[in-house]
Amino acid sequence: MSTLPTNSSGSADAVSASAGAATSETVANGTTPRKKRGIPEGLWLRCPSCRNAIFRKDADKRSKICPECGYHFYVSAPERLEQILDSGTFEEWDANLLPTDPLSFADKKAYADRLKAEQKRTKMTDACVTGGGMIRARRVAIGITDSAFIMGSMGSVVGERLARMIERAGEQNLPLIIVSGSGGGARMHEGILSLMQMAKVSAALARYHSKGGLFISVLTNPTMGGVAASFASLGDVIFAEPEALIGFAGPRTVKATIRLELPEGFQTSEFLLEHGFIDRIVPREGLKSEIARVIDYCGK
Ligand SMILES: [Zn+2]
Repeated sequence: MSTLPTNSSGSADAVSASAGAATSETVANGTTPRKKRGIPEGLWLRCPSCRNAIFRKDADKRSKICPECGYHFYVSAPERLEQILDSGTFEEWDANLLPTDPLSFADKKAYADRLKAEQKRTKMTDACVTGGGMIRARRVAIGITDSAFIMGSMGSVVGERLARMIERAGEQNLPLIIVSGSGGGARMHEGILSLMQMAKVSAALARYHSKGGLFISVLTNPTMGGVAASFASLGDVIFAEPEALIGFAGPRTVKATIRLELPEGFQTSEFLLEHGFIDRIVPREGLKSEIARVIDYCGK
């Protein structure tokens, strides 16, 4: 699993509080507990991009976009569903698939305990939600990964939910939307069982593709590791939110490996658009309409 903080500015805003799952972990030497930062419940947010203090309600009204500079704040998977789908149309699939701890894995914490803690904190059972719903009255299959849950990494449950959703989309002839917000790919706590999910999901997508399905992949901040290296990059159409961090290994790792200065804007949506890796940058407020338009355009 590549570990990549989505926000290294050290600001105490909601983004780092919610996406930085490791905030309350022990520091590098493994002994001194780091002080827990806590999520500010106040009326104001500090934008990590323009540094302005902004009224939380103003950002909420704009789908959690900074009204000053357009910075896209973190949104959780349930919020994302609300933003993209027609109200009240979501029907969750495979909610009964729950993560287990096949290796009795422990790093700083036992994986079993980590799962429980993450479930309690995020109110999700694992890092992805899948299901059916409507987008401007078009029925779709939709899956969303959430970086708040163990970096949005692809454990067995994430892979299995996505694979089943893709198969169902194929059977029911539905357009498929996957919004990835994953700072990590494989979930090391599940070892090889996690690694095989990339291949499994990619194979399901290949079968879906051969049936003529339409897969719209939406990349959000962050999309990294094995998620970027599998389903996120396999869309028939690939959208990205502005200024999202998208890549395989993080910029610091790449820099340390190749020992060269990285080009300006490396691994951002804008850079990847310029280099042909993604098709379009779509600000969050226009995402729903843009997806509906592509579905119509492709005759699905
Ligand atoms: Zn801003």
